[in-house]
Amino acid sequence: MMKFHGTLYLFIKQTVIKVKLYMAAKNARQQALIIGLIFVIVCFMSCQRSSNNLGVTENMEKDKTDIVIEKIVLTDEEWKRRLTPEQYRILRQKGTERAFANEMKHLGKGSFVCAGCGSKLFVSDTKYDSGCGWPSFYDTVDKDTITQELDYSFSMKRIEVLCNRCDGHLGHIFNDGPQPTGLRYCINGGAIKFVKDGENSK
Ligand SMILES: [Zn+2]
Repeated sequence: MMKFHGTLYLFIKQTVIKVKLYMAAKNARQQALIIGLIFVIVCFMSCQRSSNNLGVTENMEKDKTDIVIEKIVLTDEEWKRRLTPEQYRILRQKGTERAFANEMKHLGKGSFVCAGCGSKLFVSDTKYDSGCGWPSFYDTVDKDTITQELDYSFSMKRIEVLCNRCDGHLGHIFNDGPQPTGLRYCINGGAIKFVKDGENSK
């Protein structure tokens, strides 16, 4: 009987030691796993930080060499909130206002800015009366403020002009304008706003 108890005691003792060893090994594995995970996260974060730093440096380098027009990209809902229904129809849906509805005549000396984003597009010195019924200009403030695209709508081949900053539709360009350019920028009055010289556009 004593011998049986002794064997049982030994068996239980060995089992307890085995369980303890197993638990210790398991804890060690978990600890190794956690340390490994922390190491991976730290590496990932430092990589992210260094790539961000690179991005900033690249942009700074770019700013030194090129004049980059800062694009304005909004959702359709945001444009609807920002613009009047008429401005939205012209700028965002390529609409055309009625002829002679808004020729923007006799406003004095000043600038014409995009009604969508405020980018300065034309000045009064290059505005002239073409008789077509829409505000007409023979030149832009800067060639980079406006982009051109071929437009085949209404069975015509025309060149559409858009604001380079917000991609808003402004009107069309034709080659029947006065010198020195010979161009006519035919612009919807609703797509632009007049800012008198000395006044702030905001
Ligand atoms: Zn614009």
